[in-house]
Amino acid sequence: MVFNTRHFTLSSRLKLLLTLCAISLLGCSRSEETGQCTAAPLAPVRQVIIIGIDGLRTDAVSPVLTPFLSKLAESNGLVWGRVDVSNGRTQQTFSAPGWISVLTSSWASEHGIVDNDSRGPVKSQTVFERLQTRRADSRSMLITSWKPLYDLVEGRLRETSGLHHAAFLRKNDAAVEQEVLTTWPTCQPDLAFIHLDAVDDAGHKGAFDPNDPGYAAAVRETDARIRRLWEKAFASPTAQGARPQRLVFFVSDHGGIGNKHGRFSETERWAPVLAISPAGYPAVKISELVDVGQASLDFVQ
Ligand SMILES: [Zn+2]
Repeated sequence: MVFNTRHFTLSSRLKLLLTLCAISLLGCSRSEETGQCTAAPLAPVRQVIIIGIDGLRTDAVSPVLTPFLSKLAESNGLVWGRVDVSNGRTQQTFSAPGWISVLTSSWASEHGIVDNDSRGPVKSQTVFERLQTRRADSRSMLITSWKPLYDLVEGRLRETSGLHHAAFLRKNDAAVEQEVLTTWPTCQPDLAFIHLDAVDDAGHKGAFDPNDPGYAAAVRETDARIRRLWEKAFASPTAQGARPQRLVFFVSDHGGIGNKHGRFSETERWAPVLAISPAGYPAVKISELVDVGQASLDFVQ
């Protein structure tokens, strides 16, 4: 009896220890954070949110698959635009070069990230650094579930001192959404990049095609996710009761053909884009992928 109890206790301790190890290992591999999104003393007067929808094809934006995003454009008197993410068939249509082009306002020939295997360092300044140079007290945020993007951006920012920048690596879009809903009310960054990856993931598993059931479902789900973010986070007042003027971009990094992308076919190289300006601010025209970062800085400064 004594032996059994003792044996039980030891075994329980071992199990507890193993469970704790497993939780801690899981925690490390699933999420990572650098910086703290501490609130500014005053909420920003102007705020830019870039929502990156990975692998969204231009023909996937429709009242059927993206009812919220379609209505948002319509109610603002806008139509979705498109950008050539290949820069005239010179830049491979992969996510790392595409997103780094958005976040540095430069093409791969300058920033050096030519494909998803490019390890960096990113050669061009990011919008986060450029914002901080102009406004020392500004705050920025990056949230993604795609580690290569997180590593490229954070690898560069690690060298920058005095940057108020929060970065979150989460396990999937649901966790990204949860983080934004939790963080946003108190954080209120001047500039945020929120990356959603489920559409690209569905494209690789099935096909980058609005007629593919898995891809279509991921697009619908992402549209609903953005609606929740819009209603619960962006459109609500800050903790201090203020309502910053918000410029919101929706942009993709590439389309796809079959279950791939990277080359220069028409369905790979065009990506949808939309910019929603606050009332009273002129419409923001985006004709190139690299315009998004520059327009963001022009607005918040
Ligand atoms: Zn992809």
